[in-house]
Amino acid sequence: MTPNAVYFPCPSCGASQLYSPNEGALECPFCQTQSTIENEGEVHSFDFQRAPRNEDNESVDPSVKKELSCKKCGVGMSFEAYQLSSHCTHCATPIVTEPIKAIEPDSIIPFSIGQKRASELFRNWAGSRWFAPSAFAKYLDEGKKLEGYYFPHWNYDSDTTTSYSGQRGDYYYVTVTKTVVENGQSRDVQTQERRTEWSYASGTVSADFKDVVVTATKLYNRSLLDSLGPWSTGSLKLFKEGYLSGFESQEHTIDIDSCFENAKNIMGFTIDQKIRADIGGDEQRIDGKDTRYYNIAYKSTLYPVWTASFKWNGKLYEYAINGATGKVVGERPYSYFKIAALVIGIILAIAAISYFSNQH
Ligand SMILES: [Zn+2]
Ligand SMILES: [Zn+2]
Repeated sequence: MTPNAVYFPCPSCGASQLYSPNEGALECPFCQTQSTIENEGEVHSFDFQRAPRNEDNESVDPSVKKELSCKKCGVGMSFEAYQLSSHCTHCATPIVTEPIKAIEPDSIIPFSIGQKRASELFRNWAGSRWFAPSAFAKYLDEGKKLEGYYFPHWNYDSDTTTSYSGQRGDYYYVTVTKTVVENGQSRDVQTQERRTEWSYASGTVSADFKDVVVTATKLYNRSLLDSLGPWSTGSLKLFKEGYLSGFESQEHTIDIDSCFENAKNIMGFTIDQKIRADIGGDEQRIDGKDTRYYNIAYKSTLYPVWTASFKWNGKLYEYAINGATGKVVGERPYSYFKIAALVIGIILAIAAISYFSNQH
């Protein structure tokens, strides 16, 4: 397939402009000329029931590539079918292509944290981890660049009504007599003991949700992306291709219906809290619940993420930095040598203390 490619030529020198997180505008890397991204209009959600569900466009056929040639140097290249933007493999010119999915991105949180600031945040985060292996610090010092990605998400709005049945537990106290033995003599004492009285409870609770965010990519570590939130959905803007210039980006690879099941789980936590408050008492048990979802709406969103990966002892460690809030997540690479040294140090210290205290 040959998609249309979109370029953002600098009005002064003709080079490709890149989206600058610091300026919030397109900027020429050579002459620094800026162009604003025209972005009038309100971000809004769309009717979930009426979302286009085109089977052919929902399953990504990995054999379908986007065949392109760079406008600047002419080198031919292929993008994966789901890939929205990247850069020329030869001259690094940013290339943005058109979406192919039935549901295109409609809104975006543009990067507001640039490469430099993200590296600082990552370094501080890693630096505060004393137990990280020195190879990790070395990796950071080698000036490896973080990669900027826009990852696809679904945002859901839904009103809900849940009917439930459960049990309400109320505490009460009883006086019990116990026999205690003191100085070889037994005697009876009276103490208060807590008991719970359970009674049947049922009812209905309502909860309305807005912008429940679910990660919609199969092509990156989902649990890492899930832990990058909360996303500042209030700063969503209408999707414009200019925001992608200079960044990698993908279309969704998990469909709108599958992700809504995840959204139900997320909403379920809040609904359970409401049920517990509705039951009242000191403890609650939820035995059954039935939730009805209505007025469901969605947004197809792109969120900014700086990524880094690091291989150590044959294991891949992945990191992600929220490109809007600066939150850093990832598995900490523990140095077992450093931890072992600490543990041995503690054991020796305890041994020394008990040795000297036994000298008395
Ligand atoms: Zn220029
Ligand atoms: Zn090129």
